[in-house]
Amino acid sequence: MTLVTDLYQDRELFSTPDMFSPPAERRNHVVRFELTQGCDWNACTFCDGYKGVPFREKSLEEYKEHVDKIFLRLGNNWIDAPHNRRILERVFIGGGNALAVDTEKLAEAIKYTSLRFLDFTDRSPRRVAVYGRTDSIIGKGSKNLQELGRSGLGLIYWGVESGSNNVLNYVNKRCSKEDILKAAEEIKKCTYPIPTSVMIMPGLGGKKFYDEHVKETAEVLGKIKPRFITFMGINPSANSLYERRMRNEEARGTNRRLSDFELGEQIIDILREMPRFNTSVGSYDCSVDEVGHNPLTFSSANFAFKQVILGILETRLRDLSPEQWESRREDVEKELKRARRQERLVRTISKAGIGFGIAGMAHFLTTSVIGGLTNSEPLLSYAMAGFPMMMMGGGMIATMEDKIISAGERVECLERALGERE
Ligand code: SF4
Repeated sequence: MTLVTDLYQDRELFSTPDMFSPPAERRNHVVRFELTQGCDWNACTFCDGYKGVPFREKSLEEYKEHVDKIFLRLGNNWIDAPHNRRILERVFIGGGNALAVDTEKLAEAIKYTSLRFLDFTDRSPRRVAVYGRTDSIIGKGSKNLQELGRSGLGLIYWGVESGSNNVLNYVNKRCSKEDILKAAEEIKKCTYPIPTSVMIMPGLGGKKFYDEHVKETAEVLGKIKPRFITFMGINPSANSLYERRMRNEEARGTNRRLSDFELGEQIIDILREMPRFNTSVGSYDCSVDEVGHNPLTFSSANFAFKQVILGILETRLRDLSPEQWESRREDVEKELKRARRQERLVRTISKAGIGFGIAGMAHFLTTSVIGGLTNSEPLLSYAMAGFPMMMMGGGMIATMEDKIISAGERVECLERALGERE
């Protein structure tokens, strides 16, 4: 029996058991391939993903054979093959940082995989994704990224982890906040920018860096505006450099790991600091293999509904530890007061808009009727002054419509979190 999920245990096909990949690519409608083995950096202090796996890039011929073998295996059983053909939708090309591969070769690998996918399923993959590090995105530059996009690359999983230089240095990430922003610029310069899924690690750097991890990460996310954001808990092994350093700092009292409650709080705080934009946010834990501990999990939340998400998460955080949540109560109450004030303000502006509209309409009707009856040209042209008022009123109503909804939702969610509403 060969279902797509059975493949990854086969060490003849893959160098690591279970083929390290992002949560969304571990589903059974995604078929994963290995163009590179291991990670070409392999030195982030928290990461054990490729420990003991030397970095190796397959030749194009070797990769094509690997792709052929996988499709052969998926199609070699008359019971499983139709099922595999029916469910497969997407492609992920690993391992760590496949984006570092020479552009021409990577483009050819993407095209070949997509063609073989088409042969097997009778349709093109809905998306082809790879892992990419900040320095590789910069190294590619917009010209090569554009080329890869043209070849069918549809998503880059980008391990940003944090926007704070201190946190990035702490975990030896080999890039800075400025590099991350530069990489985002390179992507944006493309005529058709490749969407990114940015990974962020709550709890990274511990309590010492809590505030700057929140502030700088939210700022960076707001600037790069990725299509997807994934919060992944950290899961360093007891012997990792990260753990040893943290234990040392805990012993000296200079730092500590975040509690479960604080981890949840940090996710909420990052989202709260982030400006609202169109992205999908998910948060994962150990139930997805190789992803670390994370007490506040959710998937595919549409961040356009920021206030609703925050309200729901705040309520879940309260349920996680009602005692600890009390320390946030005062902040949430202040937030609710602000939200109510804002709701009142947008409603007032909207009402003023209605007033302008009605006044403009009344002005137009009365002056034009009187002008018509008295045959007064100045009055008739004076009637036109009602139009700008009507337009201004309409504009105010239209602009405030969305704001009223989101302000109302924000108030509702905060009231729910404070227990003032069921
Ligand atoms: S986190 Fe990514 S870049 Fe860092 S060592 Fe692990 S796989 Fe490599």
